[in-house]
Amino acid sequence: MVVPVYNEEKSLPDLLERIVTSLEGAKLSYLKGAKLRYEIICVDDGSTKDGSAKWLKDKALTHPNLKAVLLRRNYGQTAAMAAGFDEARGDVIVTLDADLQNPPEEIPRLLEELNKGYDLVSGWRKNRKDAALTRLLPSKIANWLIGKLTGVKLHDYGCSLKAYRKELIAHIRLYGELHRFLPALAYIEGARIAELPVKHSKRKHGVSKYGLGRTFRVVMDLFTVFFMKKFLTRPMHVFGILGIVSMTSGVLMGGYLSFLKLFFNESLGDRPLLILAVLLVLTGVQLFCFGLLGELLMRTYHESQGRPIYRVRHVIPSKGSQT
Ligand code: UDP
Ligand code: MG
Repeated sequence: MVVPVYNEEKSLPDLLERIVTSLEGAKLSYLKGAKLRYEIICVDDGSTKDGSAKWLKDKALTHPNLKAVLLRRNYGQTAAMAAGFDEARGDVIVTLDADLQNPPEEIPRLLEELNKGYDLVSGWRKNRKDAALTRLLPSKIANWLIGKLTGVKLHDYGCSLKAYRKELIAHIRLYGELHRFLPALAYIEGARIAELPVKHSKRKHGVSKYGLGRTFRVVMDLFTVFFMKKFLTRPMHVFGILGIVSMTSGVLMGGYLSFLKLFFNESLGDRPLLILAVLLVLTGVQLFCFGLLGELLMRTYHESQGRPIYRVRHVIPSKGSQT
């Protein structure tokens, strides 16, 4: 289990208890009566407003299955999850939020589904309990866009409750808001993906760490994922098409202007709008490509340096693994 934690002190005791109960009680058909072996890795993403880090630290010292990973500062949910992935030793990794919006009771169902022959099972919050206008609507649009651009059709990319085969994520390097694109990134790597409707609850304690700004960051990261898929193998297919479209429109506009000049002897100097349009199209394309190149360079930079996207302050192994 990998759980990113950022100022969630009030939810933690209940969370831990419910995960343990759910896993201890899981009767998984493929285990044939054997006991499920697991570790719960809670990654404290630099909580400052409450005692999440201390609670996890103290608890791990006495708990047989809880491992606490404390990051040096707040790096964001994706980085916290990546830290958890790097620590995980199991064959399967299940992620969920610390705020109990994802019911731990659903974990065994995810595992059963995964064992039907998938590499990734993604939760689908069919009855999502979040604000309609600020959360559900942007998510709907984002999910539609992601599906269109990446070719992976899921209803709910943002659901944190997911199960993965470990070897699948071992090769995927995360940064930014990319954790929600794990299905798309995994799909590029040839993963078999399933979606499973799961329950969703209202947040009981604390507040959401996100606002509308995240949707913007997610959409921006989406373009990177999309272009990674296309670009890494065939850069010219992407830039070529963009270039052709922009050139064609430029030529058409130029042709139209020449036509006016040649046959009607109109002066072109008083058509600022048309010229403005040409300029806007061209600069737009340029800026887009520059942004993209920058984005890709950044990726190369991260990958070539092997620079971690998080730094760990302290790892407290579970009591069980110490003895
Ligand atoms: N989280 C994190 N680092 C952050 C922001 C959030 O580790 O910088 C964790 C948070 O504690 C929670 C999960 O990511 O376990 C999802 O966050 P939240 O519940 O605020 O998101 P929402 O459910 O509102 O989308
Ligand atoms: Mg939440």
